[in-house]
Amino acid sequence: MANKGKFANLNLYLILLAIVAGFILGHYYPRTALKFGFLGDIFLNALFMMVVPLVVASMVTGIAKLGHLRKLGSLGGRTITYYMITTGISVIIGIILVNIVQPGTGVPRAQDYHPQTAYTIKARPLAGGSVLALTGDNKFNATDYTSRFRIHLLDQEIKGIIDPSGYTTAKEVTVSVWLDSKGKNVEPDTIGAGVEIKLKEKKFSFLDVIVGLVPKNLFKAMANNNILPLIVFSLIFGGILTTLGPRGKTVIELFEGLNEAFLKFIRLLMYIAPLGILGLVAARLGKAELASAGGFATEVARMSKYFITVIIGLTIHAFLILIPAVYFVARRNMWRYLSNISPALLTAFSTASSSATLPMTIECVEEKNKISNRTAGFVLPLGATINMDGTALYEAVAAIFIAQVYGIPLDFSAQVIIFLTATLAAIGAAGIPEAGLVTMVIVLNAVGLPTEGIAMILAIDWFLDRCRTTVNVLGDSVGAAIIDKWEERGASASNNN
Ligand code: ASP
Repeated sequence: MANKGKFANLNLYLILLAIVAGFILGHYYPRTALKFGFLGDIFLNALFMMVVPLVVASMVTGIAKLGHLRKLGSLGGRTITYYMITTGISVIIGIILVNIVQPGTGVPRAQDYHPQTAYTIKARPLAGGSVLALTGDNKFNATDYTSRFRIHLLDQEIKGIIDPSGYTTAKEVTVSVWLDSKGKNVEPDTIGAGVEIKLKEKKFSFLDVIVGLVPKNLFKAMANNNILPLIVFSLIFGGILTTLGPRGKTVIELFEGLNEAFLKFIRLLMYIAPLGILGLVAARLGKAELASAGGFATEVARMSKYFITVIIGLTIHAFLILIPAVYFVARRNMWRYLSNISPALLTAFSTASSSATLPMTIECVEEKNKISNRTAGFVLPLGATINMDGTALYEAVAAIFIAQVYGIPLDFSAQVIIFLTATLAAIGAAGIPEAGLVTMVIVLNAVGLPTEGIAMILAIDWFLDRCRTTVNVLGDSVGAAIIDKWEERGASASNNN
């Protein structure tokens, strides 16, 4: 036991060291840092490999331990209550902060509409695609745009898909294909005037999310790491097993054995975590350093007020709401709880994905903090996909920041709409890197803000994504402790009756 504890401490220090080393390497030797990326890929693959088996095994065993299906109602109710309260608080913190700090006031807006600007288009016979060069407009900066953007030739009504891997200078954009209004490939005239850059609109509908809860093909859902349909399946499957008598019991025992084996696998994975994390951090920072002329620090400085607002909001939510709740609501030693989940938090920071971190979260919460599998097996997988306090806070701050930059006033009712849609957008975001950036379109559309505004926050988003993912995973882990306590109390109250 003592040895186990020593290993856990050593491992934690190694992970911290790996993050620091990753930053140093990425900053000073970005090209070398990129070469370390394969270590991160191996680690990330191994984590993702475990997500599906672990979600199914841990949910089936967790549900089987509930004993009676009626208890699922109370566990589910408590879980949703916890998610709603904490996510709501985090959005309110974000809205208050962004209104006080006003990070967007005075920031020049991205220039994306240029009806007069002349352009020329040259084919790239060897590399494929073409290069659009602007002549005239000085405010345009093509390096701000990624493949999420489309360049519209206003005079020809043709759209081009921006290819950021081609060379992009401030006045030139590489375009992989040109499409007409019907989506057919076309060759545009090589000279003209008038361009606009727009974010690709991604349709998002909650009805689709609800229909998607029931998988048409279970294995396809598994292959796509699509967790919500798996949760639905595992819930029903686990519930059914409890009604089958001795036969069901045999199958449940099989899943219990599998669950233990998977957790052991995660423990082995902890050994390579420092190396994997070094690779992930070094390669990502290296990429950011190479992407922008002044390096990542210059990008952060350019956006410093916005950056600091998001970070302060996340810190307040983590240290004044979530962590104290471990002590005041779950009645546990909050620092020990935090230290036990820190490998999961650092993995969240390194991967920017709640789903990829899920195996680590389950290991830290169940094995180290001794939260029952019956609660953790339900709360953690569900939380990894729908409970995202950090993302919700960030969505609200980013949307109001964009409004401030564009000088669009938001009255109280608009802020209420932002509160509601930021919460929904966080629920709808998948637990993968930069998912929040995509669902932010919901928030912006709801209050009529320009989606192009997202271009301004792109360059530093990969870093903020890591910070918000860490808070997302913290929210899930704290939730497991609190809901476990509520469940315990509920059980002793019903025993007393
Ligand atoms: N990357 C975040 C997560 O996995 C989601 C997001 O905010 O983009 O939790």
